[in-house]
Amino acid sequence: MIELKTPEEVARMRKAGAVVARLLDFLIPRVEPGLTTKELDRAAQAFLKSQGAEPAFLGYRGFPACICVSVNEEVVHGIPGERTIQAGDIVSLDVGAKLGGYYGDAAATVPVGRVRPEALRLIEVTKRSLERAIELATPAHRLSDISSAVQETVEREGFAVVRDFVGHGIGRAMHEDPPIPNYGPPNRGPRLTPGMVLAIEPMVTMGGWEVEVLDDGWTAVTADRAWAAHFEHTVAVTEQGPEVLTRLS
Ligand code: MG
Repeated sequence: MIELKTPEEVARMRKAGAVVARLLDFLIPRVEPGLTTKELDRAAQAFLKSQGAEPAFLGYRGFPACICVSVNEEVVHGIPGERTIQAGDIVSLDVGAKLGGYYGDAAATVPVGRVRPEALRLIEVTKRSLERAIELATPAHRLSDISSAVQETVEREGFAVVRDFVGHGIGRAMHEDPPIPNYGPPNRGPRLTPGMVLAIEPMVTMGGWEVEVLDDGWTAVTADRAWAAHFEHTVAVTEQGPEVLTRLS
């Protein structure tokens, strides 16, 4: 069941979303060669504490860190550890925060130093597919219009959409209904309604869409080890159109 949020709840989610936006803004310039992914996690933890917010992912089904850091062929759910970031890498940061009982969730993929052009194009197309999907988060559309817009934007550019992971509703729980696939035909599923809050998150690869989970039980990598990118925003559907809660205004 999709829980509609009242305007008061959306106001709270705006605050949680703002913390997530500031956290990403804080982390992105810190993604530099020589840093371990664990160091990014520590910085994120300290930042969330300074904001009076809780990390959303720590302890979630046993996840052992505050944020997910996924490098190159890692798609999502990378566990921060001893992996050292290198020039030429692309690094996906997925961050979530809980504040005042509500969650915010966002992700971005960051190029480190000089990155090969095809990987930069992957990042640009993934980001564009999210922006296109956000434009459709209005009461004039149905849920699968979002899915379809992502798939169309991505495949037109010769990239592939990951199917094993999906976006989701978000609110007092990090993952609520509805699941939001990043592929499929348009004009299906529930009509989008003011009060819905959606975490839209395209995951896109330079190769095939198949993924596998490593022995750590979390890190999802592409089956063919092609590189992947991930962008996400938490978006409220309003009468006036989409309101991105995890964007710095
Ligand atoms: Mg999410």
